Parts: sequence; structure tokens; C-alpha cells
Amino acid sequence: MKVRQHKLKIGVSGIRGEVGEFLTPPMACAFAQAFGTYVGPGRVVVGRDTRPHGPMLEHAVACGLLAAGCDVVRVGVQPTPTIQIYVANRGARGGLAITASHNPPEYNALKLFNSSGLFFNSYERSELIDLYHQSNFHHATNDAIGWVHADYGRPAGIHIERVLAHVDKDRIRRAGFRVAVDAVNGAGSEMTVEFLGEYLGCELVPLAVDPHKPFPRVAEPRPDTLGELAAAVKEFGCHAGFAQDPDADRLAVVAENGRVLDNDDVLALVVDAVLEKQPGDVVVNLTTSAVIEDVARRYGCRVHRTPVGEANVVERLLATRAVIGGEGSNGGVIFPAVHPCRDSYTGMAFLLDRMAATGKTVSELAAGLPRYVRRQTKVAFEHGPLGGVMQALEERYQGAETDRRDGLKLIWPDRWVHVRASNTEPVMRIAVEARSAEEAERLFSEVQGIVAS
Ligand code: MG
Repeated sequence: MKVRQHKLKIGVSGIRGEVGEFLTPPMACAFAQAFGTYVGPGRVVVGRDTRPHGPMLEHAVACGLLAAGCDVVRVGVQPTPTIQIYVANRGARGGLAITASHNPPEYNALKLFNSSGLFFNSYERSELIDLYHQSNFHHATNDAIGWVHADYGRPAGIHIERVLAHVDKDRIRRAGFRVAVDAVNGAGSEMTVEFLGEYLGCELVPLAVDPHKPFPRVAEPRPDTLGELAAAVKEFGCHAGFAQDPDADRLAVVAENGRVLDNDDVLALVVDAVLEKQPGDVVVNLTTSAVIEDVARRYGCRVHRTPVGEANVVERLLATRAVIGGEGSNGGVIFPAVHPCRDSYTGMAFLLDRMAATGKTVSELAAGLPRYVRRQTKVAFEHGPLGGVMQALEERYQGAETDRRDGLKLIWPDRWVHVRASNTEPVMRIAVEARSAEEAERLFSEVQGIVAS
């Protein structure tokens, strides 16, 4: 029973599971019919990443939406941010992205968007899940069955134009950057080549940009999964390397010396670039580095913290009218002037623009950031002992400032610890940050010891 639980999850974050025995087309169809019932008759956009079961689930989803009386606009393989922008741009009732993001290739899931192209908030999600569990669906009759339209061509252009409105495209083109690209053969494969090559005039060293091939590496773009990209950057003398996850909302960056930048530093560089042009509030999750506060302080700007999760960050961004935000730990830049969603294209454009404007390399730009050392890990964890672990941590570290909005974060002036249960996996995540490697290591092993005991 335990194993089954991990292979299929139906809850407030939607439906996610291993396709085959666990996540089936009838389930996707029913979920889409619940979605169509919830958003009402009108156009619903359906896109997907490049997983082999994508087309199968796309048909199931279209079937459910038609049964609920919706029109279906199929956009095919597209990055998640591209689908979100298109939903808002076309005035659709909502949208669905068929993608399990950075999860392994045998998994798939549905990401749900409202008519503004935003992730469903917690109220919308719990209402939808009630509809699904009660099978309380609208059943369209003969004269009310909608149509299926296709628009594969326009979404990428709409997204790219929105991003390029915020950078000096000609300056980037003049710089003549050579860039290695690893799109993990995912939804960004074709659009990223077009964006960097055609629009920004980069000379490309392409790796894993064939949407018809399987993922050639672990789907999550992390330092330990980007060895080939790092090697290509050095071998071909590239100015930078960019890596995406399968639905192209996350970005990882390799510097010209082959070092994979810390995701928090990528976010910090983009925050710096944005605030320099347009000072304003910044929103990041609780597990993002304090480097963001340091950068914001340069411009006299304020940083808000939220629980982990894109929807939480976006909700706060909109409420505070912040100009930039993101989730450092997940390699996500959220720039609401393009769209309030995680977007790897915004990240790439701002970084290249910064390089072109300053003449600095990626590592020189990163060296300009205050230095912190971060350690993070996840430990297998079943429900039950969480309360005891948190209590033990609070007792051990009584002098620290505490934040309990998402697990427990203990904060000192020069270091912090964040321990939380994952929303998507049966694991507890531990993150630590300090000013030196020794201090980070000491704190990290102490906390690991308390969690394990
Ligand atoms: Mg993703």
C-alpha cells in the first residue's frame, strides 16, 4: 500500500503518478472533465512535454474536456510558461499542461491554470478535487459538444516577444555569444534553439535538443546531472551553458569555466539585473539563500519570504506588486512583467543582457555576489515523527529566530537551517546556509543527527 501511495498522488496539487498501472487514461479523462466542469464552457488550452505517454494522456484530457462542454485548443509540445502565457493571451477559460516537470520519465502529471494563466490557488484546487472525487461532472449533450482546434505555431512567438521586450536584444546580438544548450530533449528543445540562435544571435552548441528522443540525463538540472553540458562549455569555449528541466520552467547555468552555478546565485544575478532597472519588492521562498537580501539591500528594496512552492511565491508577488521573485532552490526566476510564472527564458535573457552590458563573464558576475555556503539533502521519511523532530530542533537551538510557516526555519544573523516535509515526495528536506564551509558542515551534520535520532 505504501508503494502505491508514492506512485500515484491525487490531491490539492492535482494528479501525478507513474503512467501505466497507476496513472491511467480514464483517470486523466475524469480529472479533465472535472476541470472542464469547474472552469465552464469555453476554450481550454492543452499542451504537454515530450514524455512518450504525453500524446496518450493528451487524448484522454481532450476527451474529458469535450465531455464537459469545453472547446479544446491543442498547442502540442510547449514549455509550461509558454502555455501559461498563451492561456492569458488568448482569453481562454483555463489550461492544462501534461508534464511531470523534473520527475523521472515514467511519471506524468497535470498542471492546472486558471483564465489568467496562473496556477490554481489552494481554494481552486480544493474545489476541483471535491468535484473530481464526487464525480460531479457536467455532461454536455449533443448540441453543446465543442470543437478541437490546434495552434502549434503561435505560442512560442508570443512568449519570446514578451521576454525580449525587457532586454536589449541588439546588444546581446552584437556580443556574439557562444552558448551550449541542454534542453534534456524536453519541451524547450525547439523553442530554446530558436530563442537563443535566431532571436539572440548566439552561436549554439546543442546537446539534447531533440524532442523525439528520451531524456538523456536525470531530468532535474543540478550540478551532479550536468556533467556533459559542463564539459561541452569548456571543450567548445562557450561563454555559458544553459540547462532546462523537461517542461522548461527551470534553468541551470554553467559558467565559462565549466562550473555549474548555484541556483540561488542565478536567481541573485537576475534579481540584481531587474532591480537595477526597476527597484521594487522581491519575493522568494523560505529556503532561498540570504544572498537575495544582500542584493536587494544594494537598491534599498524589501524581500518577502513564502512557503516553498511556485503558487505561494506567485500569490505573494501579486499581493505585494513585487517586481521580481523566484525559488532559488529550484532554479526558478519569476518575473511578473513577462508573466507571473517560473520562466527559464527570462532567466537566460537577463543573464545574457547583463554579460553584454558589463563585458563580464558568468564567473566574474557570480564573484560579485556575497559568498555563502549551502548544504542540502533529503532523507526518507514517513508521516508521524515530524512534530517530534521540529520540537527537538527548537529545543536544541533556543537562541535562533524561528519561522514555522513551512516546516521549521531557524535563523541567526549569519546562518540558517530549514527543515520541511516535501509536498511531492515522502522525504524531509534539510537545507543549511552559513558564511563558511566549516560552519555550514558543522550545522548540517548536527541537524542531520537530530533528524535521524
Ligand atoms: Mg518544471
